[in-house]
Amino acid sequence: CGIVGYLGTRPVTEVLLNGLQRLEYRGYDSAGLVVSGPAGLKSHRVEGRIDRLRSLADSSPLEGRAGIGHTRWATHGAPSLANAHPHFDASGRFALVHNGIIENHAAIRSFLNQKGIEFQSETDTEALVQLIGFLYQGTGDLLESVRQALRTVRGTFGIALLSSEAPELLIAARRGSPLIVGVGSEELMVASDASALIGQTSQVLYLDDDEIVTLGPEGLHVSDLDAMAVERDLVTLDLTL
Ligand code: GLU
Repeated sequence: CGIVGYLGTRPVTEVLLNGLQRLEYRGYDSAGLVVSGPAGLKSHRVEGRIDRLRSLADSSPLEGRAGIGHTRWATHGAPSLANAHPHFDASGRFALVHNGIIENHAAIRSFLNQKGIEFQSETDTEALVQLIGFLYQGTGDLLESVRQALRTVRGTFGIALLSSEAPELLIAARRGSPLIVGVGSEELMVASDASALIGQTSQVLYLDDDEIVTLGPEGLHVSDLDAMAVERDLVTLDLTL
C-alpha cells in the first residue's frame, strides 16, 4: 500500500518512519522496514500502527545508509505479522517491499517449492523476492536477477529492494503502481506517493512502467527491463499536491 526508501546520511529509520507516517492516511494493516548496515540486513515488522514500529525501532535501533519501509494493505494472505513486509528470499540476502498484486504468484511458488525453497508467508510478494534470490544463484548479478524476475511476473508492482550483496544500493521499479524518486543534496528517496517526499526533497523523477532505478553513492540510474539506459529529466515537485 505504501513504500518509502531512503539512501543518505540522515538517520535512516527516522526518515522512513516519518515517510510512512505521511502515508498512513491511505490505510494499512501492518508495517515494516529494513535497513542495510554494517551488520547486514536488519528489519522490524509490526501488525497495526506506525507508532508500534517506531517504539520497536527506538528500543532496537537499526543503523545504515540505506533503508526501505512499507505499510501493507493485504491482498494475498491475511493481515498478520508473518505477512507484513519486508519479505526476504531464503538466503536472507534480499529484502523486498511491494505494492500491487503478482498475479502468477502461485505458479512461481510451486516452481520454487519444487526447487526446495520454503516460503515464510502467504503473500504474493514473497514469490517475487524468492524468485530474485533463486535467479541470483544462476546469474550472480543483482540487477540482472531483478530484471529477469520482473520479466517473469505478471500483474502490478511498485517495489523497493535491498541486498546484502550490494549494501549501498537501493533498487526500485514499477508497473501499474506508482513510484516516485526524490533527489536531494547528497540523498535520494523513493516513495509510492508524493506526500511522503514533501519537506524532504523537491526535485523528483517519475518512473514509467517496467523501468528500474538504482540509487547508489554515485547517484541514480534508470534503465528498462532489457538493461537499456533511460534518460529522464528531474521535475520540481508541486507542493500543492
Ligand atoms: N499484494 C501484497 C500483499 O498482499 C501487497 C499489498 C499492498 O499493496 O500493500 O502483501
